[in-house]
Amino acid sequence: MSIDKVGIGYDIHRLIQGRPLILGGITIPFDKGCDAHSDGDALAHALIDALLGALALGNIGEHFPDSDPAFKGADSMTLLDKAVDMVRAAGYAITHIDANIIAEAPKLNPYVQAIRDSLAARVDVDVSCVSVKPKTNEGVGPEGLGHAISTQVVVSLIKLPQ
Ligand code: MG
Repeated sequence: MSIDKVGIGYDIHRLIQGRPLILGGITIPFDKGCDAHSDGDALAHALIDALLGALALGNIGEHFPDSDPAFKGADSMTLLDKAVDMVRAAGYAITHIDANIIAEAPKLNPYVQAIRDSLAARVDVDVSCVSVKPKTNEGVGPEGLGHAISTQVVVSLIKLPQ
């Protein structure tokens, strides 16, 4: 099976007290969460940007502006649904997702399977085609100091037969 399109996405959010920490639609127990206009799901955001990138259709801010009250507190997985709809409308299907989550804390390994299952179900691919790799930032930089969580996602798409 050939790969027809590739997209890359990146996101970073400040961590603040009093917010839920949501990654890939999974709420993770922690005393801080991502500061955001939406629910702050940095993994969903990077995946959306990767899908839009593969389609060369701009970025998440153009489609779901954080200045729009409609997206205040938005469930980012519903925004992901819209990006997946755009993939299908363009005649493509997702073949693989590979993600990095850079966070000094909390330890995310116990949640990797749940996050993979959540994303796979949401975009309708086999879980073997969804990779999620948590890592620390070795104690340096905004992620390493616990000030932020960042995410990186690469996706591949295949053109479906007409
Ligand atoms: Mg974001």
